[in-house]
Amino acid sequence: MVPVRHESASNLRADGVTLSSPVTALHGVGAEYAKLLAKLGIRSCNDFLFHFPRKYLDRHTITPVSEVMPGDSVNIVADVVKLRTVRTTRGRYQLTTAELRDKSGSISAIWFNQPYREKQLRNKRHVAFFGRIRRGRDGMQLQSPEFEFDLNKSFHAGRIVPVYRSTGRLSQKWLRIWIGQVVNNFADMIPEHLPDKVLVDGKLVEINRALKTIHFPDSDRELRKAVQRLSFDELFLLQLGVLTRRREWRESMPGLPVMVKRDEIRSFVTALEFRLTGDQKTVVAEILNDLGNSMAMNRLLQGDVGSGKTVVAACASLAVASAGFQVAIMVPTQLLAEQHFNTLCQLFHGYDVRLEMITGALTSVKRREAWKRVSDGEVQVVVGTHALISKEAKFDSLNLVVVDEQHRFGVQQRARLRGNGYNPHMLVMTATPIPRTMTLTMYGDLDVSRLTEMPEGRQTVKTGLVSSDRRSKAYAFVCDQVNQGRQAFIVFPVIEESENQQVRAAEDEFARLQRDEFSSFSTRMGLLHGRLSSAQKSEVMKAFRDGGIKILVSTSVVEVGVDIPNATVMMIEGAERFGLAQLHQFRGRVGRGSHQSYCLLMSDSEDADGNERLLAMTKISDGFELAEQDLIIRGPGEILGQKQSGIPELRVASLTDVDTLVLARRQAIALFKFDPDLCLPENEGIKNRLRDFWHKLSELS
Ligand code: ADP
Ligand code: MG
Repeated sequence: MVPVRHESASNLRADGVTLSSPVTALHGVGAEYAKLLAKLGIRSCNDFLFHFPRKYLDRHTITPVSEVMPGDSVNIVADVVKLRTVRTTRGRYQLTTAELRDKSGSISAIWFNQPYREKQLRNKRHVAFFGRIRRGRDGMQLQSPEFEFDLNKSFHAGRIVPVYRSTGRLSQKWLRIWIGQVVNNFADMIPEHLPDKVLVDGKLVEINRALKTIHFPDSDRELRKAVQRLSFDELFLLQLGVLTRRREWRESMPGLPVMVKRDEIRSFVTALEFRLTGDQKTVVAEILNDLGNSMAMNRLLQGDVGSGKTVVAACASLAVASAGFQVAIMVPTQLLAEQHFNTLCQLFHGYDVRLEMITGALTSVKRREAWKRVSDGEVQVVVGTHALISKEAKFDSLNLVVVDEQHRFGVQQRARLRGNGYNPHMLVMTATPIPRTMTLTMYGDLDVSRLTEMPEGRQTVKTGLVSSDRRSKAYAFVCDQVNQGRQAFIVFPVIEESENQQVRAAEDEFARLQRDEFSSFSTRMGLLHGRLSSAQKSEVMKAFRDGGIKILVSTSVVEVGVDIPNATVMMIEGAERFGLAQLHQFRGRVGRGSHQSYCLLMSDSEDADGNERLLAMTKISDGFELAEQDLIIRGPGEILGQKQSGIPELRVASLTDVDTLVLARRQAIALFKFDPDLCLPENEGIKNRLRDFWHKLSELS
């Protein structure tokens, strides 16, 4: 083990300072600093130790001055040979210049308004400078470099140097020194919580070493090993947590097996006006299989927009309803509830399945009556919004819950649907293309089915970027499509300030379009936004579905699930303001019928990140591929937001690190098989870490 070099190894360990001591127990950290540190989430010595670097500077490699190039960030070690300070001609600046010389040659350095540098550097030899090389008037120049005199004793130089997340008033140097001391004195006190076998199998370095190295690595290779070990820790704990959830679901309550009437399902499928895709067949078979089990199904169905998840849910629902149980289908919006309700009414026509729709839009009298029919068992399939898990909700024999298009369906929500001493079967459906690596984590407690195949004849939606100078062409294109009998969506961007403003913007734009560009269809345009009542929204959607409305101007409420096969244009205003997943969702609203469809991304922005996303949209039509791109562009934390993702914050690990993820999952499964309650003494450390790690999560779900 390589000892960490540091400036003053003060006797921190004295006076009974422990890992859980507050930072103020450290000699020299007062209340003022403690306040600043608290802003970074650092309250105890332990927090200090786990405040990992954000990045590193390579101050290990020393460049001979003759080899520096403009633009480089370099470390040089040189003697200071000439030094002077002058005022600029206009007198605004004091320029301190130095000539730095090493064996290979010399280079000048310059500081602005720091005349005291002169005194610091006068006649100094063998000084390490770090900075960026610019091309100055008289050749290359090191601008405002930092410097260090004694390389061997420094946290800041002659090594790979950590850079921490900080707040304005805590300097990197200060943080480095303190963290350096905490590392020196405390890293060895952290007990190893992983069993030897896991360390050996995973070729992982010990925790103490990893902690020292991640702060003050001696080489890139060492650093990689430390990061790998600490990533493993996080992913391992994540997987253990996920497995625990899965076990709780399975073992805390039994499920009720469903006697599936396979012949009936077969004839139902045969009578559909289309043939199921291979994937749909496979998934239906998987689900029917699960339903027959006495362990409740807990399955995630992932399928890109338009892949035909609804009909799969219909098969499952029919199987459960025909066996004498009830089904709840939960969707995020009134619009979707209506759509699913209508679809299912059509599909189940001629079957002995009674449906009910229950949403917040019903009057309380109507809702009470509806729940009465449900609790009396008159109804088999209930489609609805969150109203389905309200206090009023009462089922008679609920045994299948389908959750459509909701990222998070927390433990508590699930618990509400756990009826009379058994777990209903669960089918969670999502079109949000979650990359595989993330599925393992976020939905690691679910079995996963995928619809990768699109229904026959599905076309790719032609997607183009439209800048402001081609706006009128885009409108002409929309007119042309409408004249051919097609329909169009125009979506307005989210406006940060307030929903009211967004509504107003959409209203204004709607009026303008009616008056100008689309005057010939002015009576056949509809406006949809969040401030409309549910009844008004349904009316607009119904008119759009029936073809009375040709052009639907909408805020982002139209995002998920809506299925209008005759719509062929999706025009997205301010496209750069949406995330990839959302853009893809919008695009999924078209291209559902037999006509070629188009997605027009309207954007005037110069925002590079936004453009990268839009470019990806024009090139990639596959949702999963887009999601992988998104993961690369934005990083996993932002894709679903912390709350939505339902996973603890990861400090080191990346969900794109498939190798470590797979390793962690394998080890977690192995450990879990052996000691699921982590009650063996050797697993006590893991148990404690697990509790801390998932601590925050209980507040989320
Ligand atoms: P999503 O997976 O986005 O929820 P939907 O279930 O809304 O997709 O299906 C989109 C459209 O595709 C619907 O109009 C549906 O009737 C149709 N569809 C589903 N499966 C098939 C299939 N196998 N062949 C042709 N059309 C299908
Ligand atoms: Mg859907």
